[in-house]
Amino acid sequence: MFHVKQSSSTSTAGYGVDTPLARELADLTARRRALESVTVGFDGPTRVFTISNQKGGVGKTTTAVNIGAAMADLGAKVLVIDLDPQGNASTALGVPHTADLRSIYDVLISDVPLADVVQESPESPNLLCAPSTIHLAGAEIELVSQVAREHRLRTALNDYLAAHPADVVIIDCPPSLGLLTINAFTAATEVMIPIQCEYYALEGLSQLLGNIRMIQKHLNPDLTMSTILLTMFDGRTRLAQQVAEEVRGHFPHEVLDTVIPRSVRVSEAPSFGQTVIAYDGQSVGAVAYREAAVEIARRASENEKGH
Ligand code: ATP
Ligand code: MG
Repeated sequence: MFHVKQSSSTSTAGYGVDTPLARELADLTARRRALESVTVGFDGPTRVFTISNQKGGVGKTTTAVNIGAAMADLGAKVLVIDLDPQGNASTALGVPHTADLRSIYDVLISDVPLADVVQESPESPNLLCAPSTIHLAGAEIELVSQVAREHRLRTALNDYLAAHPADVVIIDCPPSLGLLTINAFTAATEVMIPIQCEYYALEGLSQLLGNIRMIQKHLNPDLTMSTILLTMFDGRTRLAQQVAEEVRGHFPHEVLDTVIPRSVRVSEAPSFGQTVIAYDGQSVGAVAYREAAVEIARRASENEKGH
């Protein structure tokens, strides 16, 4: 299992200055210390999250892999399912996903067992990934003619979990509301929506919530919209603060207290085939993702139904 590095170099105790930067560093040091002593249990039934937002580039994949890695680090057995033909989650988890390899595409289209495509991330034996390959790009169309086309992931996942128990499954969705995303909604118990703190953040959200309601009605009555995570937050701008306030006003129960800041380390990590938890587990972005994972783990899974 991956172990978080100890930090010793960032204490501001001896600085003797009271500047905003010193306060920020002291705060970060306290947060790192708090995380070191955190314990959370993963005793209940498997929680299956789908990370969804049809807006592109809002932090879905970053959230899927980093929450997954942080939960694995907390002791959970985690399976990340990469349901995006872009394969970014597979890349970030250091899992091979070239076109010649079997992938989630073969599970959805050719009934290959999920266990046959799942790989261990080099980061942790607790962190597994069902990779996507470029073939998945054709799946939206190929699924249309398949029997039980909305249930194929759910069936494959249930068969897998019966033999390979996991505490948490995280499905990374593409930025669209097509059949791949519908398969994810049908397989999931919870929807997590990352929202980027910028203008237009809430645009398209009502369409997403409408889709979730439709899935609840027709395909998966157990689905809850449990979690909203504010991402790429830049506290220096009034706009980011206004967006955060607005989202919290609309969804007071769903928005996590933890906010993910915009951070260079977070954006660098995938180019090393790593999550930020492994790449720089003490950086401000990693600390925020680790805090978010703790918060999610502590929340009851049976939150209110989505609005
Ligand atoms: P898509 O819709 O294309 O699947 P996405 O919603 O999965 O996109 P990501 O790929 O996770 O979004 O993030 C988009 C870009 O923003 C990436 O380059 C990522 O590295 C960067 N990014 C995400 N979160 C952060 C952050 N907290 N700080 C800095 N950069 C970030
Ligand atoms: Mg993505």
